[in-house]
Amino acid sequence: MKTSPGKPFWARLAPGKHIKRLGSRPGFTAYVLRGRPGPVAVINGATHGDEYEGPTVLRELVDQLDPRRICGTLVLIPVLHEEAFLAGTRGHPVDHSNLARVFPGNPRGNHAERVADLFLRHVLRHADYYLDLHSGGVISDLLPWCGYVVTGRPEIDRVQAEMCTCFDDFWTWASHPAPGRTLSSAADECVPAIYVECRGGGDVHPDDRAALHRGLRHFLLRFRFLQGPNPRLRPTVVRIATSKDEAHLQVNHPAAAAGQFLRAVTAGTVVRRGQTLGRILPLDGSPGITVRAHHAGTVVCVLRKRSVQVGDAIATVVPLGR
Ligand SMILES: [Zn+2]
Repeated sequence: MKTSPGKPFWARLAPGKHIKRLGSRPGFTAYVLRGRPGPVAVINGATHGDEYEGPTVLRELVDQLDPRRICGTLVLIPVLHEEAFLAGTRGHPVDHSNLARVFPGNPRGNHAERVADLFLRHVLRHADYYLDLHSGGVISDLLPWCGYVVTGRPEIDRVQAEMCTCFDDFWTWASHPAPGRTLSSAADECVPAIYVECRGGGDVHPDDRAALHRGLRHFLLRFRFLQGPNPRLRPTVVRIATSKDEAHLQVNHPAAAAGQFLRAVTAGTVVRRGQTLGRILPLDGSPGITVRAHHAGTVVCVLRKRSVQVGDAIATVVPLGR
């Protein structure tokens, strides 16, 4: 059961479109589309500041949607971590705190911890559904997917899987719980929640923009925020992670040396075990190091950045069965 957190700020708002500022610095802006009585969906972008697909599509959605046609309330936050976004960096530009690692946050903590606390207390725990829109950011390229954390609560896991099916241009990745994420706090609060991961690369690819709009519209129809026929969804590939680290992108194929990175694969390349993923050329002139796939599968994440530090994750390879 959910805790009893009192009424959310939008409970006092009349039907219509509202812009609500929470906090100052740190803080964020929520666009509230309040329709007829019904459930609440919270959708945000830019939990990481260098990911532009979510902010772009959510601003477009704010302009497109008419609250009079909505059953329920949509709370859309295009940019959750503002300082990181304005600096174009994954985490906070000064203390590098990563908003996706500090949940449930701390009202007296660092910048990201205060944002997490504000978001959790005033927004996330009042949601009936939560969608956190991510991408590869400026440093990596992804094969776009939807993800959820297996909570072990069958009804929540069923709803999360169904939310993912709405994004039928993407594949689905169910992973193990990990601390500090937005989805960890959503699970603690019994809020069904998913990630949507677009390709990234520091831009908004037209295919991702279209796929996000399509997926969000399907979600709004499927969960009855919008009236209309149930969308006909294309079947998608579903992968259940077999280990705790499988979906932890920051630990896969770590660089053994610092240097220049030469990439040999792209997101979506199917590789065999031992196939070259790329090479690292140390800056001191010592011989190059070949990075080889630890196992066969599809490259779902690969470093785009052309320089590496020791331990940087080069690529994630997953047996997707296609
Ligand atoms: Zn992200």
